[in-house]
Order: sequence, then C-alpha cells, then structure tokens
Amino acid sequence: MFRRTRSWLRPILQPNRQLFREVLAMSLFVNLLALSVPLFVLQVYDRVVFQAGLGTLQALVLGMAIVLAFDFVLRQARGRLLQKMALRIDVEVGRKLFDKLAALPLRALESRPTSYWQTLFRDVETVRNTLSGASTLLLADLPFIVLFLGLIFVIATPVIWVLFAMLALFVFVAWRSAASVGGATVEEKRFSLGRDALIGEMMAGRTTIKALALDGSLRPTWEARHASTIEASMARGQRTDSYVNLGSTLGMLTTIALTTVGAVAILNQEMTIGALVAANILASRFVSPLLQLVATWRTYAGFRDAAQRLGEVFELAEDRTVVSLGRPRPNGSLALEEVSFAYGDAGTPIVAKLSLRLGPGGVHAIVGQNGSGKTTLLKLMQGLYAPTRGRVLLDGSDIAQFTRAQLARWIGYVPEECFLFAGTIRDNIAIGEPDADDARILDAAERAGVHKFAVDLPDGYDTEIGEGGTLLSRGQRQRVAIARALLRDPPVLLLDEPSGNLDRQAEEALREQITGLARDHTIIMVTHSPVLLSACDSVMALQDGKIRLAGRSDEVLPKLFGDAFRPRVAE
Ligand code: ADP
Repeated sequence: MFRRTRSWLRPILQPNRQLFREVLAMSLFVNLLALSVPLFVLQVYDRVVFQAGLGTLQALVLGMAIVLAFDFVLRQARGRLLQKMALRIDVEVGRKLFDKLAALPLRALESRPTSYWQTLFRDVETVRNTLSGASTLLLADLPFIVLFLGLIFVIATPVIWVLFAMLALFVFVAWRSAASVGGATVEEKRFSLGRDALIGEMMAGRTTIKALALDGSLRPTWEARHASTIEASMARGQRTDSYVNLGSTLGMLTTIALTTVGAVAILNQEMTIGALVAANILASRFVSPLLQLVATWRTYAGFRDAAQRLGEVFELAEDRTVVSLGRPRPNGSLALEEVSFAYGDAGTPIVAKLSLRLGPGGVHAIVGQNGSGKTTLLKLMQGLYAPTRGRVLLDGSDIAQFTRAQLARWIGYVPEECFLFAGTIRDNIAIGEPDADDARILDAAERAGVHKFAVDLPDGYDTEIGEGGTLLSRGQRQRVAIARALLRDPPVLLLDEPSGNLDRQAEEALREQITGLARDHTIIMVTHSPVLLSACDSVMALQDGKIRLAGRSDEVLPKLFGDAFRPRVAE
C-alpha cells in the first residue's frame, strides 16, 4: 500500500534531492549550533560563577551572539529552500493531477462524486504543505537528537541511561499514536467526503430544493453526515490529545528522572551541578522533537492518506492521448458491430449486440421509450464509453484507436443537458477552438440559431452567461451548445433531443439547418419531435437496448406512430 503511495511521488521528489540534502546539511549546522547553549550554561555555572571570571563571561556572551546570528540566518535559508521546493512540487503535482483528470475516461469520472475529485486538489495542498512545512523540518531535525545524546554522554555520563530509557518510551508512544491517530485521521476524511458529496449535490440541485422546499427532507441526511464527521473529528482529536498529553507527561518525567539521578551522581561526586543543568537543557532539546513527532502524526497520516488517494487516481487507465498516425478528416460513415454495453461489471446490458451502419451523410433518428438506451448509444458512438463487447467504426476504423481530441473533432456531440461555462457567449462557442476567427464563429452561431437572440442582447456576443450558463434559457443554452459543436465542423454530429427546449419556430429553423448539413455530414439524433423526424432519412427504434425496428423513415415512421404521424408532420 505504501509502495504505491511513494511510487508516483518519487519521480517528483527526485529532482529535489539536492535541495533535500542542503536542508539536511543546514539542519546539521542548526543542531550543532544548538549544542552551544548548554555548553555556554555549563561554562557559566562551572567556571564563571565559581571563579568570578567576568572576562570569560564577556567572551562567552560575544561568542553566543555570533552563534545566534548564524542560527537565525541558517533557519531563514532552510525555510526558503523548503518554500522553493514547495513551489516546484505544487506546480508539478497540480499539473499532473489536472492532466490526469482530463485524460480519465468518462466512466471513471462518473464513478465517483464531484466532491471526490475536488478533494484531490486539496490533497495536492496537503502533500505540498507536509513536504515543505514544519513536519518535514522536524524529520530533518530528528536524526540529530543523537548529537544531544552524544554531548550528554560526554558531560553527564551517569544520567545517560535515563535518556535511553525515555527514548524507548517515546518511540513506543509515537509508534502507538501513529497506528491510532493515523486510522482516525483517515476515518475523519472519509466522513467529511460523504458530507461534502451531499453539499455538492444540494448546490447542483438548488432550484429543485427551493421549488419543492426539500430542506426539511434533506436535513436528517445532512445532520447524520455532519454528526458522523464531527464524531470522527472528535474521536481523532481525543486520540491525538491523549498521545500528546502522554508525551508531555513523558517530557516532564524526563526532567524529574534526570534531575533525581543527576542529584545522586552529584552527591557521589560523579558530575558537577553545571553538567546537570546543561544535561537538562540538552535533554529538553532531545525531548522536544520527540514530543512534536507524537503531535504531528496527524499531519503524516493526512499526508499518507492524500498521497494514497492521488496514487490511486494516477494509476487509473486513461483515454488514448497520443496520436500514432495523423488522419485526414473522415467522410462520416459510422458503424456498430455487435456492440454491447453495461454500466458496471455485473450490470444488465443497456445496449445488447447492436449492429448498424449509418452515413456518410443523411439524417438518422433514434427513437425509443425512456431508458431504452438512446443516450447510452450516442455516448458509445462518440467513444465516451467503450463497448463491453463489439466495435464502433468510423469510416471502417475502430474508434478505440483514436484519441479523445480526434474523436471530439470528428464526432460532434450535443447532449440533452447542455453545459456551458462562465464567460461570454462568444467564449462558449469558441471554447473548443480558441483560435477560430469571427467569421467562423458567426457562421456557426447563425446556423445554430444563436445569432437571432445574441444580437438582441445589450452586450451581444459579449454577454456574460454566468456559472454553468444559467443566465441563458435552456433553449438558448442548447443553441449555443449546437453552435459550439458546429464550429468544429465534424463529419458526424450526434444530437440528443436537440429541440427539447426549442419553440416551434426555432425547431423548424433547426430542421432546415439539419437538412442542409446532412448533405455532407452524418447527423444522428435522438428525437421524438415530429418536425425533426420529418427531416430524417432513416429511423431506428430502440427497445431495451436492441433495435426493434429500423429502416427508411417513410417506412418506419407510420409503423411506429401510425397514420396520425403524417398529418402532424404536414401541418
Ligand atoms: P434513454 O436515453 O433511452 O432514456 P439512457 O441511455 O439514458 O436511456 O439509459 C438507459 C439505462 O441505463 C437506464 O435504465 C438508466 O437507468 C441506465 N443508466 C444511464 N446512465 C447510467 C449511469 N451513468 N450509470 C448507471 N446506469 C445508467
């Protein structure tokens, strides 16, 4: 488990090895300088006080002033180095995570709540903060407690065994706290993720919550999750506190034991009072990192948990991203060969052994009841989902060999729920082609029916449409999404209920556009609109993921909808 955690970090930390070494070297000097304080005290007690050596005291104070100045400079430099490393790690891990999320297949992204993916960016911060913060400095300081032990051994040999005994006790407490606090920290995170997922869903569904006044119904779930998070947090806090308190007790015990054993040694004339005072100061330098270690386990556990989560994500399989061979724009014939698909490994097939051949060119409709698998089929055609069995072919080539960027360029897809991004109408149309010139944007906007409403707005194409495009009506959003797809001029265009939110006039305009486009584009759409169906060349009726009926529209439509269909179309 831990190996996986480290394996992705290693190549990122590798280039920083030199920096780590420098930090370690500085820590050595900082700790060496720290030795001078007890030595100073020892000298003052044993020489200055007893022999009234004021000249010696002056020299010692001057020496210590220089030491303190050095110490300050070294600590500053060490902090800066770690900051530099933090910046590098942050940039690198952040970029790696963004690229990974962009390359993950849609199914992988759909398998976890949005809040989970957001947490990963907080995990990057945790990794950065741990590697560059006080907890890393502590680890860099830890090996040097041997220096303090060594010096105590030299100046106060009779008490050294007390410190060895305390060291063993501290290591035991730190080890126990690692297991106990570590588990509690992971548990706390797990509960807070559950709570965040609920908040994310509530924010996404805020209109529904308001419209149906669902706050009362949601409160018990919220309270249960909130309570679990608080309980887990308190449990973790209590455990941390217990170990920190135990550590403090051990710290005080060290002073008492050291002074007691030292006093006996002084009475036996085995060491001086100065040596005991110096040993006590040294012991506090020795105990303080150990105390901090016990208190910092939460940080290490959080770091391990975050690195583990990131490691799991970095290991997930990606969509294809590397183009092995440049291809000319396809003609747009799309074929499915015995395609089956199920959500989840053991799920019932939503698409079952489906074969069809469409295009190049023409308008092809998919009809069927809710849940018959129409949207899933479109996603399979665009390569958003990989078939469990069978193949999807574009101009005779299996689309599995194409990258997401290629597929997005060749197979346009306008989902039923169109998502737009905060920004202007123009930004949203051009989002996939930031270099597109105004003429192309205008052309796409006119063909999708955006132009008509955009020019009526005070800011025209520069109108800000708000987060998720919510300042536009659904029909307007749908048209912007169609323009966004048309801008790339894909040979195949998949439309899911494209007129679901359009008025009759807009629907008829869309039919004209679709008919025009179909001369050199393959249009495949899920629709039940008589207006759009009247423009179709072929119709396929789906039932439970299988084709119930398929063929030329003038043959299939009357069979599906009876004679009632024709007069309505002719209206
Ligand atoms: P249609 O577009 O014909 O209404 P869909 O393709 O959206 O049908 O859905 C077909 C079936 O697949 C439905 O039974 C639905 O419950 C299921 N389904 C759709 N999306 C998912 C998903 N992301 N995870 C699991 N099941 C899904």
